[in-house]
Amino acid sequence: MSTVFLNGNYMPIEEAKISPLDRGFLFGDGIYELIPSYFGKMVGFQGHINRINDGLNAIGIELNWSDAQWQELCDTLSKKNGAGPLGIYLHVSRGTDTKRFHAFPKNITPTVFAMAFEIPVPKTPDLATVGKGYALISSEDLRWKRCQIKSTSLLGNVLHFQEAYAAGSQETLLYNSNNELTEASSSNIFIVKEGVIATPIEDNQILPGITRRLVIDILAKDGSLSLEERVITLDEVNAADEIWITSSSKEIVPVTQLDSKVVGDGNVGLVWLKAATLYSKNKFSY
Ligand code: PMP
Repeated sequence: MSTVFLNGNYMPIEEAKISPLDRGFLFGDGIYELIPSYFGKMVGFQGHINRINDGLNAIGIELNWSDAQWQELCDTLSKKNGAGPLGIYLHVSRGTDTKRFHAFPKNITPTVFAMAFEIPVPKTPDLATVGKGYALISSEDLRWKRCQIKSTSLLGNVLHFQEAYAAGSQETLLYNSNNELTEASSSNIFIVKEGVIATPIEDNQILPGITRRLVIDILAKDGSLSLEERVITLDEVNAADEIWITSSSKEIVPVTQLDSKVVGDGNVGLVWLKAATLYSKNKFSY
């Protein structure tokens, strides 16, 4: 049985109860984070906390927790849940109202919920054991125009993810109405062409992924691979030698099929191997 945190108290998950008038339930009016933690060590803690604060500011939820408060919550949840490989999920909604009314209520206390669940320990990147990579489908990005906010209103992402799932694929790669790559339904995307790595710029069309940022920073520090943040067309995606997706729980996953066509030569690429190895060696420094 897992131990969760709700509004200041730790309790078994069965005892955690939220009012149906909570705006998180009624409107998806909230912000969330997922931080990977391996045996008590988190990856990218500060980036995740900065992003939750940015999200709360963007939608006008005044919580004002210090970094130390978040750190203590994450550490305690990890310990209370066995301190193994865990995804630490943080969720703040605007709070419980007395009625259903769209405008922000005054003097409302935000609801803070957190839980930890087991995640797989990422394997050391290795061409012999990585398997054949993910198969993706592509689709026009039909989500809202503020994808930089890690909102709990995830219906657009859920519907796009479901398209992939229903097609027997692992993710949906998304492009905007100008046929430019945005991201995937629950991950960021990188492509490789002739040894050069590229990923879409951070704007309102993508979530500023913490794994994406760590990949960029780790590769820049190493200096042996070149990486560009720029607009990427769907034609470039279709002609790429390699495609990767990144997220906190998956790290860097190679993609070898897109819309039933092979990516590059159909094998997991050597640039992936180098980048994933650098990530794996350096991720705890961030
Ligand atoms: N884009 C979307 C839409 C996501 O939901 C996620 C997280 N699952 C990501 C990108 C990756 O973000 P991060 O690396 O911070 O997990």
